Amino acid sequence: MLLQSLREQVLEANLELVKRGLVLYTFGNASGIDRQQGLVVIKPSGVDYDDLRSEHMVVTDLDGNLVDGTLKPSSDLDTHTLLYREFPSIGAVVHTHSEFATSFAQAGLPIPAFGTTHADYFYGPIPCTEPLSDAAIGGRYVHETGLAIVRRFRGLGASPLEIVPIPGPEIDRGSTLALGGNSAGLSSWRSAAARPSATDHLQPIDPLAVPACLVAGHAPFVWGRTPHQAAHNAVVLEAIARMAFRTLTLKSEAEAVSQALLDRHYFRKHGATATYGQPT
Ligand SMILES: [Zn+2]
Repeated sequence: MLLQSLREQVLEANLELVKRGLVLYTFGNASGIDRQQGLVVIKPSGVDYDDLRSEHMVVTDLDGNLVDGTLKPSSDLDTHTLLYREFPSIGAVVHTHSEFATSFAQAGLPIPAFGTTHADYFYGPIPCTEPLSDAAIGGRYVHETGLAIVRRFRGLGASPLEIVPIPGPEIDRGSTLALGGNSAGLSSWRSAAARPSATDHLQPIDPLAVPACLVAGHAPFVWGRTPHQAAHNAVVLEAIARMAFRTLTLKSEAEAVSQALLDRHYFRKHGATATYGQPT
């Protein structure tokens, strides 16, 4: 069977979401990508988690064409494939309607970096997209959901995007979005503030530095280098969303952590200067 190891990793990530209480019934899905082959493994649509097996996973190409499997892929497939095409550094995507992260999404609010738990995983606030327009909702809704996320990470604000087809092989191809000139880079996202500001939507974000986005009126999408890491990030996102909610309940004008504390904790675990854990 095609991509057996990735199928098992994606199955495990899906089951982890249930185990950690992030998913009710069949809401939620996880996928992973084999970058060498340009193939995506995703949960099938509407199958009970109790019955889910690795052979039920569906394999598609980066455009969502079915390559292997007999079941229909998750209905969110187009969001997953768009994120894989636009964020070449990511290897897995998870979507849940976990309660507290979804509450922020429903309020259309980013999650500020209120503490070191947040800073250990996310280098800055968890952004929230703009609401989808009626035209987007009535059109290629699932694809438009992905576009809203990418637009936010490119710092494109409300600018409309056009899809420009890139000829050639599907694998390892670059961005297919016509961009307004901003691209995420170390110099820009290193200066990320812990607390959201009014001009945040114009700041590009590195998707690996902040591996999650809230879709306004919907719920979070989370990613990582592997299915395990994406599921782990989704669990942590829900925990920090719960803590942020409570922080704001206790003190609505609560301050985000300082830039120094954000830097100290984020770079302790990430990047060239990471010191957390055991040496390998
Ligand atoms: Zn959803």
